[in-house]
Amino acid sequence: MADNNDIKIHVAGLTKDFGDNHVLKGIDIDIHAGEVVCVIGPSGSGKSTFLRCINRLEEATSGEILIDGVSITDKKANVDKIRQHVGMVFQQFNLFPHYSVKENIMYAPVELKLQTKEQAEETAKKLLARVGLSEKLDAMPRSLSGGQQQRVAIARALAMNPDIMLFDEPTSALDPEMVGEVLDVMRELAEQGMTMVIVTHEMGFAREVADRVCFVDGGVIQEQGKPLDVMTNPQNPRTKEFLSKVL
Ligand code: ADP
Ligand code: MG
Repeated sequence: MADNNDIKIHVAGLTKDFGDNHVLKGIDIDIHAGEVVCVIGPSGSGKSTFLRCINRLEEATSGEILIDGVSITDKKANVDKIRQHVGMVFQQFNLFPHYSVKENIMYAPVELKLQTKEQAEETAKKLLARVGLSEKLDAMPRSLSGGQQQRVAIARALAMNPDIMLFDEPTSALDPEMVGEVLDVMRELAEQGMTMVIVTHEMGFAREVADRVCFVDGGVIQEQGKPLDVMTNPQNPRTKEFLSKVL
């Protein structure tokens, strides 16, 4: 078991309200460096809200999130710095439609003056090779399949050289035949030691790649453990019911 020094993301007593809607009701989890955590659970249970709190797309109502020991829930936290650490990939790829693939990947590092255009272009080339799309450097997003667009979105997130990647149902908007190519890229990232939090309904992937599966329902983690344990021997009746629908 890793010691406390390895804790990459520390979440304690995290709550999030949208008005009267108490969406997160006290999330506690420590995620270690290099760990892959898959979050499963029914629609509306707060999975996306949880991910969005980790990179401050949402502000927590109460509780604490530390990344590498530094508070990101603190009102004075530097949001841009946080986002540089933490890449996020969404269900809808959200590529800039009027930018080429290369320009999409170069945009943030150049805009934030982290890289020159030349450096960013080199990075874009390397990252496109990594996601198997070297030949699409100058293509426009609309000319790509959904699976290709999502791989570009992953490359774009990696361009900031994050050490944490958050994925919010990255394959849910894809035709079935394109799911595999995106999961392959994610599997490779996991093997390379990226710390990853992945909301997914791909149970086969979770079983194979995740170090831990968390079942979220009603804004709390109801059950967590090794994928095989949670999936084949769930203890919580709500986990059982959920799995009976998705497996
Ligand atoms: P999941 O990803 O598990 O489907 P979400 O985190 O997207 O769940 O949503 C949980 C609840 O929070 C839902 O009731 C949703 O309507 C509400 N919610 C999410 N984002 C917002 C928002 N920006 N404003 C108001 N309500 C929101
Ligand atoms: Mg969601």
